[in-house]
Formats: sequence, C-alpha cells, structure tokens
Amino acid sequence: MKKKEQIRNVGIVAHIDHGKTTLTDSLLAGVGLISHKIAGKARVLDYLKEEQKRGITIKTANISLLHENSGKQYVINLVDTPGHVDFTGRVTRALRAIDGAVVVVDAVEEIMAQTETVTRQALEERVKPVLFINKVDRLIKELKLTPEEIQKKFAKIILRVNSIIEKYAPPEHKKDWQVKVEDGRVAFGSALHKWGLNLPHMKAKGITFRDIIDAYTGDPDEIGRKVEALSKKAPLYEPILDMFCEHLPSPLEAQPYRQTQIWPGDPKSPVGLAMAKVDANGPLLMCITTIEVDPHSGVVAIGRVFSGTVEKGKTVRLVTSRQKGSIQQVYMSMATDRVIVEKIPAGNIAALSGLPSIHVGETIAEEGVETAPFEALKYVSDPVVTVAVEPENVKDLPLFDKVIHKLTLEDPNLHFKIDKESGQYLLSGMGELHLEVTAYRMQE
Ligand code: GDP
Repeated sequence: MKKKEQIRNVGIVAHIDHGKTTLTDSLLAGVGLISHKIAGKARVLDYLKEEQKRGITIKTANISLLHENSGKQYVINLVDTPGHVDFTGRVTRALRAIDGAVVVVDAVEEIMAQTETVTRQALEERVKPVLFINKVDRLIKELKLTPEEIQKKFAKIILRVNSIIEKYAPPEHKKDWQVKVEDGRVAFGSALHKWGLNLPHMKAKGITFRDIIDAYTGDPDEIGRKVEALSKKAPLYEPILDMFCEHLPSPLEAQPYRQTQIWPGDPKSPVGLAMAKVDANGPLLMCITTIEVDPHSGVVAIGRVFSGTVEKGKTVRLVTSRQKGSIQQVYMSMATDRVIVEKIPAGNIAALSGLPSIHVGETIAEEGVETAPFEALKYVSDPVVTVAVEPENVKDLPLFDKVIHKLTLEDPNLHFKIDKESGQYLLSGMGELHLEVTAYRMQE
C-alpha cells in the first residue's frame, strides 16, 4: 500500500445481468477469499438480502486484493459499482475513487444501453477501460458458433467499445485508450465457469479457440470435467488481474491527469502539489464516496486518499460541512468485513469511523490547511418519484426518524421532506424500484 506504482484502484462496469457480480466472486475465489465451489453462488458483494432476492446490485462494496504480476505484488482496490438504471448516481460516485475499469459485456447480448451509459460516465471521469467479454460458454453451447464466428462476434464488440472510447475519452487519450486484442487489453471467458483468457495468456498456455469449444462438447459429465480443467488451467482472475496491473494506471500515473477533473483546487497549492505526487507525507486530502452504517462501528465513511495519510486518532477537517472530527478507527474494506489497520497512505481506498455527521461527497482534509472541497458530485439523474411514508404506529415515530436519517445519509439520491400543509412525510427517489428497495430496507 506504500508502493504507489503497485496500487490499482479499479471498478467493474456493465449492463445489468452481464456478469459483474459473478466476475467479482470469481476474482475473490481466485485470491482465496471465498471457496471456488461457491463462487458464482455466494455473490459476496450483494450482501443485502434484498439484492439477493432481486438479483441486482444496489450498494457499493469495496474489496482490497493482492496479486502478483512479473514478480511484483500489487494491491488491487476493487470498487463495486451498481449497474441498475435507478442507481446511476451511485455509479458516478464510485467512479471518483477509481483510475481504471473493466467493462463487462455479455457476448450474446453485446453492447446494451447501460453498457454505453456507464462506460461513457467512466471515460468522462478519466477512468481508463479494459474489456472483458463474458458468457462465451453460451456462444458455444447455445449459439454453436465456430472459432471464426466467435472471433467475428468479439471483433464487433471491440469495435463498438472503441467507438465509445473514441467519442468520450479525454482528447489526449482517444487513441491510446483504445482496447486491443494484441496487447492483452481484451479478455474473454465465462465468469460462471471461472475461466478466462486474453491473447498473451492463450499463447503462453497454448490454448486455442478449438480447445475451448472442445471443452463444451461431449456428455454433461465429460463437459463438467473438461470445463473444470479449463478453469484450473486458465483461471479467470489471471487475465483480469494481469490486465489491471499491466494496462490500468497506478495512482501515481493517474492522479496528475485526473486531478483537474475531480478537484477544483489550485494545482500549485501545497495540497495540489502533494496530490499530483500522491505524497503520503503531504497534507491529508480524501474524498468520501460511500457511507455505510452498521451496528458495530456506527457510521463508516469510505473513500480515496489522494494525499497524506489517514491515521487512527488524527484530527481532521470536514471541508464542505465545516466541522472537525477525530478518526476513531481506520479499516481496509473486505466486502462484508473490515480489517482494522493503523493507517492508510495516499493512493489507496480507506474506511474510517468516528466522524458522525458525514455525507457522501465530503472532503476530508488536514487540520489547519486551506483546501478546496472536491467538486459537488454531478448526478446523472435527479429524484423523480415521490411517495408518502409513515410509521404504522405513531409511537414508532422516533425510530422512523432515525431510519430515515440513516437511509438519506447512506444514499444521497434519496430525498426526504415533511410537507407543511398536509403534514405528510415525503420520500423521493430515482424510480419505483429504488423506492421499493428503500421501503424494504426501512421495514428491515
Ligand atoms: P450483474 O447484474 O452484472 O451483476 O450480473 P450477474 O453476475 O448477477 O449475472 C447475471 C446472470 O448471468 C446470472 O444468472 C449469472 O449466473 C449469469 N452469468 C454470469 N456470468 C455468466 C457466464 O459466464 N455464463 C453464463 N452462461 N451465465 C453467466
């Protein structure tokens, strides 16, 4: 975490159902956080029950992984971004914390509306993409494509992704951010069956498209055995994590060119200079991208440390809300778990507790150092649907009040107000599904 060149802050963006959650589980299984057998079923990041029930990702969860590439160890901070259209505000927020992303595309459905929307949002935040073409097993089993037809399908997807990059990438990166098969910036595979390859890995392992098709021919038992063997020989996490290390930028590389996009402060100020160098000894500057409330740690604020170091016991300034606070505990986020650490240096994602009235988008800064807050986050959509809510029993009003407070704190796309004339409690959200999920969480 101290070696800035060996940190990658990355996310996964995809149209709903294209396999983001399954891919995440496969990556976690790859590094040993969950067993291989339950990957694809456990859905670690979907830790809300409601998400399991509906099979969509609502909350952002973050995980730090360790991966070795060319003899070096990399810290990969994986920030999960929700893909559902009702929750695009959360996607935008998560993008602040990452420098690179893997775009997941279902090989059968190809590029869908939401693939384009989230990829565009990422590019506009100067997040560099690589590509993973998922569900290749379906091309073989269901569509029965030949190796040539599979490659044609890939070429079509790559062309579309590159035209999105051409359109929305920052001008200086329209060319060099194009994803290419030859240098290994395009991987393909099956997140469900946990195998994956890119061209360099195919060459190194001597695996051809014929071999892959062959793995899916025979009786079910035989296919089961051959696909399992393929997932051992070409585990999905290898090309994905290698792409992160080899093709996505470190904070040291990314912060200088992302700085002006995500922070309106003076690049020549002490904070600006420290941010460009990702200086762990510089003045603290952190942007909060997620708030979680849990019964044990209370309010936990998660975000990217752009400069300085967050440390237990340190007094900090909350720039937007003009408050002071003391960091009670520092954690690394491991999905549903948190690991307590003493400090986390610039360039990483950190979780903090002890700062009670903190909001998403808040800037945490060194005490006594003048700094601009991070830009107000631009939301793609405003709340559009409003419902009246009330506790069934009036005596639950204090609890109702507490729950509303917690939910609106965690989710800035949720607005609450009391209508003075009617006395109704009005809750506004991004769509019916968003409000339904919120109602469910209130009841829970
Ligand atoms: P998300 O909405 O992008 O997180 O998508 P999920 O990971 O929840 O996947 C959506 C559905 O596609 C689930 O039923 C998965 O089991 C299925 N799925 C994911 N990856 C693959 C794959 O590689 N092959 C096949 N056949 N199905 C997959």
